[in-house]
Amino acid sequence: MGTIYSISRIGTFGGCRLRYKYQYVDHLKADKETIEAFMGSRTHEALEELYGFVKNGVIKPRDWLLARYDDLWDKNLTPAVKVVRSDYTEDDYRRKGRKCLDDYHDEYAPFDQAKVVATEKEISFKLKDGQDEISFRGIIDRLDWDDKEKIYEIHDYKTSGSLPTQEDADGNDQLGLYHLAVRSLWPDADRVKLIWHYLLFNKRIESSRTPEKLAELEKAMILKVKEIEACTHYPSTKSALCDWCGFQDICPEWKHPEAMKKLPENEYLKDEGVVLVARYAELEEKKKDLKNEIEGLEAEEAKVEEAAFAFAKKNGVRVIDGPGFQLTVSEKEETCAPMKKEDEAKWTALRDLLIREGKYTEVSTVNNYMLNSRLPGWGKAFYDKIKAFLITRITKSVYLKKK
Ligand code: SF4
Repeated sequence: MGTIYSISRIGTFGGCRLRYKYQYVDHLKADKETIEAFMGSRTHEALEELYGFVKNGVIKPRDWLLARYDDLWDKNLTPAVKVVRSDYTEDDYRRKGRKCLDDYHDEYAPFDQAKVVATEKEISFKLKDGQDEISFRGIIDRLDWDDKEKIYEIHDYKTSGSLPTQEDADGNDQLGLYHLAVRSLWPDADRVKLIWHYLLFNKRIESSRTPEKLAELEKAMILKVKEIEACTHYPSTKSALCDWCGFQDICPEWKHPEAMKKLPENEYLKDEGVVLVARYAELEEKKKDLKNEIEGLEAEEAKVEEAAFAFAKKNGVRVIDGPGFQLTVSEKEETCAPMKKEDEAKWTALRDLLIREGKYTEVSTVNNYMLNSRLPGWGKAFYDKIKAFLITRITKSVYLKKK
């Protein structure tokens, strides 16, 4: 297990193995960044700078924070940043990020809740379970020391649009792992406060992990890594998350549609794949029309059959003559097992009797096939027992014959 793992690496494997392969096995670079990730990165950078000053005893005002954010936004924005949701613009996201920082500054200035130990701290640590050991790496957005409570605090900023429940936070692997990382740096750090800042909601969620929970997490992570390392098959998993994946241009699920988006209409219509799909769609459409037509003809035919039966009855005939063809009508009276949908009480009573008499295992269900195939072997005495549960059904049929 020489590879270095991160929580996002493990999450990627769980989300789509093909994406994992592109990113971590083939080491390909994603061709785009989504605006959500871009906005998240800029807010993180602005807060990192803010707390860099806090650490040195300088409290920057709100306007400074917002101006830094705007600067970072303008300097980093490139055409590769993709707005996935077409109802929104880049500026909408810029405003959202600004609002996050505005609220945050309001809530926490002068930022003296705890002492800042580090910001964007890269941490490497090992997870162990018996002989198994894996290397992990992560970045803690901010590590604080609460001098009053004598406890470390791991802070994580989130700009996602959904707020997790307390249960989600209590089961979150990422900050649990960072607790393990902090404990590996400061072995006395048994108690660590895990704090998420959901910036869009101006909401703080806290959690913590017991030593037992940490031991469980360590084992679970090692098992996940073993699964990853044993993996030789990397299928794609198409989902809503594909819109935020930077490998659509090479992924078999998206490669052709993405390439087609870039073609002018005249070239698009000549593409071999487009031609095939157009022809296939045309045939499917024709099949649908024919199916509807056949259904209409069958309904009309059923009415003619009914009329033929009425004619045969009225005139006392079985064969009706016509131009080039003759129609033979017949009615058959049969003793049948009831179908559940036509007489559930009888069906259930017959099934229970078969069970009591030890015959049910031979038939597994109650239906006409059962009756026809097994009844001759069961003999007359048994037939007498079940006949009260049987029904008489009249089957009508017509047969068209050339003259
Ligand atoms: S586009 Fe979707 S299916 Fe394809 S690699 Fe990315 S996440 Fe997987």
